[in-house]
Amino acid sequence: MVQLHVTNSPFSESQVELLNRLVPTLTETQRIWLGGYLAALGVNAGAAVSAAEPSVPAEQAAIPAAAPAASREVTILFGSQTGNCQRLATSLSGKLKEQGFSVNLSAMNSFKPNTLKKTENLLLLVSTHGEGEPPDNARSFYEFLYSKRAPQLEGLHYSVLGLGDTSYEFFCQTGKDFDQRLEELGGARLSPRIDCDLDYDDPAAEWITQVISALNARLNAPNIAAAAVQAAEHADAPASPFSRNQPYYAEVLENLNLNGRGSDRETRHIELSLEGSGLSFEPGDSLGVYPENHPQLVEDLITAMGWDAQQTVPLNKKGDKGTLREALLRHYEITVLTKPLLEQAAKLTSAPGLQELLLPERQQALKDYIQGRDLLDLAVDFAPWEVPAAEFVTILRKLPARLYSISSSWSANPDEVHFTVRAVRYEAHGRQRYGVCSVHCAERAEPGAKLPVFIQSNPNFKLPANPDAPVIMIGPGTGVAPFRSFLEEREVQGAAGKTWLFYGDRRFVTDFLYQTDWQRMLKDGVLSRLDVAFSRDTAEKVYVQHRLLEHSRELYAWLQEGAHIYVCGDEKHMAHDVHTALLTVIEEEGGMSAEAAAAYLDTLQQEQRYQRDVY
Ligand code: NDP
Repeated sequence: MVQLHVTNSPFSESQVELLNRLVPTLTETQRIWLGGYLAALGVNAGAAVSAAEPSVPAEQAAIPAAAPAASREVTILFGSQTGNCQRLATSLSGKLKEQGFSVNLSAMNSFKPNTLKKTENLLLLVSTHGEGEPPDNARSFYEFLYSKRAPQLEGLHYSVLGLGDTSYEFFCQTGKDFDQRLEELGGARLSPRIDCDLDYDDPAAEWITQVISALNARLNAPNIAAAAVQAAEHADAPASPFSRNQPYYAEVLENLNLNGRGSDRETRHIELSLEGSGLSFEPGDSLGVYPENHPQLVEDLITAMGWDAQQTVPLNKKGDKGTLREALLRHYEITVLTKPLLEQAAKLTSAPGLQELLLPERQQALKDYIQGRDLLDLAVDFAPWEVPAAEFVTILRKLPARLYSISSSWSANPDEVHFTVRAVRYEAHGRQRYGVCSVHCAERAEPGAKLPVFIQSNPNFKLPANPDAPVIMIGPGTGVAPFRSFLEEREVQGAAGKTWLFYGDRRFVTDFLYQTDWQRMLKDGVLSRLDVAFSRDTAEKVYVQHRLLEHSRELYAWLQEGAHIYVCGDEKHMAHDVHTALLTVIEEEGGMSAEAAAAYLDTLQQEQRYQRDVY
């Protein structure tokens, strides 16, 4: 690179030195940007000269054409399963628009990947599922970035927000993958990635502040980060005064066991009153419920630690205070162990075993220990603690809400919300364990009691806008819940489209959830077809996907008529097997190759005609 000297430039010695230090460190993009910036300054200077000296001929006053200044266009892409990333992305978009940015907000699967090359500012929000997998609507974009077709992205400035759960081994893996891949392709980070645990509000607000600040700095606009902070604090401003951050205490109207006597399962149908809350919802949305920990577990933990249940401790980071019993019942998570928690706890005990468990070479032992154990195990296994409760609780995560698919329609049951919960009880490591929320709902949510709840909208699980479109619903077990809402809604709408439900559970006699509802709907024509698979009534297991294959011709005909398919329930096995069965149906009935069938199903997903709510 040519060096500047005092003699070959109009600069002073110290300016030359500064420039010679700076210029060689600039990337190509930075040089282009700087060129545009200086040229833009030149416009103003030129304008001032011409005004002061009108006699200067136009050609002498001419200024160099401005190089393109950095764009104020920002692309926000989200990959969201339950709607959290989508909500944050929408909120971020609003804030950027307020500051004069032009925003292109899109789900990853609706974004045309070939426009990525031209994108200058990219903000990407994505959650992680299962064993480190992307959400459904991030999958195609994820695969594109990792494919040979992915372009070089030297002009790209980006930042990633990851949502996840530290109790999973592959915490925020999808966010990490995107962040790393964009860097590999030549992108430059606007601000560092932030990985959020379940309680994501504060770190997400921090990330929003940082990216807005970085965008403003990059575009040389005034730094309005303070305004952004203020705005970020109101990220969840809802229409109703009640939200995830301020739940509504809804009265329990009804709490029924849907399983018959002799069943090995207990599934509760719970009806709550939302009267006066201002809350409402659409079919496909979820209900967030803040549970209480099991009172016996709380008591046993306090005893094991040698604490006093009535002593005062912090309830949260805001500085609210309450009794230890209250804190452990309603405010802190005590049933899940995570590596970050164990790392903190190791500083609070003199028992050497915990430090050893955290040694890098003992990763597998750590994983085995965490699996299925809770805080009581930790308290007992690594005593003595001799740590004040007020200090110990500060290392605990906030007790997170659980989400359940809503099983009623607002139009059919105004001012009420129904949901469906299977009680989780099992034995592990020599002790009875209880699912926090499901057992709270099953054992301690009698009619008249109140549950703190909020509505979590799910834009990725919605009935077709066209009421004439056929609807295929696949929901074994508690996965059937949203389809009760769908069908109630269609009944109120008087929708003409055909409906087909595939349902399965263990036994016909004891486990046929909502049987009388489906029978009535069949009689009234709201439900056109019902196919069931009871897995433990026959020697050989029969699952919903077997029914799909048995009726493949009709199923394919429905798809060709424009049907929308919905899958809800178990993610690990069922959703995967159903997906494979759908591919087989399309391949065989459509006379397609495996690749063509996969492309067909991808297109359905792209067109939001194949939607899943799996967990
Ligand atoms: P399940 O999915 O466990 O069982 C429903 C039916 O699906 C059973 O007949 C079961 O058969 C069958 N099944 C098992 N494997 C497959 C498969 N690969 N493909 C298709 N069907 C299969 O119902 P649940 O409602 O209990 O659980 C659904 C999901 O919800 C799970 O992921 C569970 O962990 C989760 N969950 C939900 C709770 C809630 O209250 N909503 C509470 C706790 C967990 P079989 O058992 O005979 O093999």
